[in-house]
Amino acid sequence: MMTAMVQIENLRKEFGNVRALDGVTFSVEAGEWIAIMGPSGSGKTTLINILGGLDTPTSGHALVSGTDVARLDETGLTRFRAEKIGFVFQQFHLVPYLSAVENVMLAQYFHSTTDEKDARAALERVGLGDRLNHVPAQLSGGEQQRVAVARALINHPKLILADEPTGNLDEANEEIILGLFRELHAEGHTVLMVTHAASIGQMADRRIRLAHGKLAPDAEVSVEDEVQFDHLLEQVWIFGEEGLTPELDRVRRSGVQDSAAIIARLKDLGLLDVRHNEVSLTALGENRARDIVRRRRLAERLLTDTFSVAEREADSHACKFEHIISPELDQRICTFLGHPKTCPHGNPIPPGRCCPSR
Ligand code: ADP
Ligand code: MG
Repeated sequence: MMTAMVQIENLRKEFGNVRALDGVTFSVEAGEWIAIMGPSGSGKTTLINILGGLDTPTSGHALVSGTDVARLDETGLTRFRAEKIGFVFQQFHLVPYLSAVENVMLAQYFHSTTDEKDARAALERVGLGDRLNHVPAQLSGGEQQRVAVARALINHPKLILADEPTGNLDEANEEIILGLFRELHAEGHTVLMVTHAASIGQMADRRIRLAHGKLAPDAEVSVEDEVQFDHLLEQVWIFGEEGLTPELDRVRRSGVQDSAAIIARLKDLGLLDVRHNEVSLTALGENRARDIVRRRRLAERLLTDTFSVAEREADSHACKFEHIISPELDQRICTFLGHPKTCPHGNPIPPGRCCPSR
């Protein structure tokens, strides 16, 4: 069996009679970007600190690449933090009397050797090539956080732990820092990022929600949930095509089971907005709805044109397809079919990236 990058098993942490973590279990595969979400005081920081060996659990286990962090002795822990973990905190925690490049080199020092060239390269990578010799007080908040990201990266850690890394930044700097995290994720780093913001949480592969030290009930979105989400988003898209106002009541009557709860969760996920008794797709929701509609209508075309399946049958088969076709496959099907503009019923197939632009 493959070892998960992170394995949290029945983790508990008590501070006096405060239960900061109350039996948390989950695992994270290598390369995943996980958003840890939940209200203030729900145990997010405690969880990150235990994972990084900055705090110890009262009971349970936190394993990183199979290593039980709490079992490491002082030397082992120092090595572990230096080699495996990159930390980014909300407060940047830079040494005030050291320059940017020295702050980054300090992290190397704990590793083994210091190499100023590497430290410079790390700072250049985060866009601070012209701030190498500035001390923190001479840098803006966003720049200080970029130094902290460079410092976290210098030892090429597999696991990046970030506790509200954009919590103290304005929007422009938040965007820069998130861009860096997006790159790190694309390069295969595993990222656990604490955030309050739904919009940031949405960038992650998966969200883990804490409430009062426990996983919140909707922590994991199941495959069945995804199917319901897709149905509802698709329905809202179709109302738009048909020129019908997507009133709450109309959406609720559209045949999606438990639609009120689904609408609430879609709202929570940043896919739907609800205002004045009307729902609307957010930009994110619109993208997802377009993809679903496209996949379904391409599947219908494929079934009727290529496999000569009767239209009605194609309809019911296509709705099973729409949840399982990957974006790559959908492009290949689209290319194979010659980028059709409509489904067999004459409804438009939203063009994808593969379609020649007119
Ligand atoms: P979050 O990061 O989600 O805001 P924390 O993990 O910081 O939450 O805190 C969870 C709970 O544990 C809170 O009730 C907090 O007051 C308590 N707590 C955290 N650290 C300590 C500590 N060192 N001593 C006492 N209580 C603490
Ligand atoms: Mg916190």
